[in-house]
Amino acid sequence: MPSCTKCGAYTRYENGLCRNCYYGKKSKAGKVYFGEVTFSDGKKKIYTGQTKRSVYQRVGEHKENQYEHNTKTYTGRGVKFKLLGSIFSGNRFKAEKTCKTLHSGDKRKLAKYGARKFRENYY
Ligand SMILES: [Zn+2]
Repeated sequence: MPSCTKCGAYTRYENGLCRNCYYGKKSKAGKVYFGEVTFSDGKKKIYTGQTKRSVYQRVGEHKENQYEHNTKTYTGRGVKFKLLGSIFSGNRFKAEKTCKTLHSGDKRKLAKYGARKFRENYY
């Protein structure tokens, strides 16, 4: 497995840098993720979020909010949070904004298949 020439972390590129080293510490790089929130009346909505940490860590916080019935947060009002998928972006804030304007069907598609296409179109 190739590793970063600067810090030794995993990278896809032989003799290259990992994402953190490549984009720098104050980087806006990170992941945009999609989750399906189910509400107590059975209605479902797609939540779009961004994080520079692990997506699973972030999703864990959403689930915690639901467990604690933290109604101050959008996801906390739901009863279930299911991660649909995530994509990497060099500017996760911009990518999140773009993703939020999509229709829920497109969000689902993007979460499932769209990583490569997203990079070409919206990066
Ligand atoms: Zn590195």
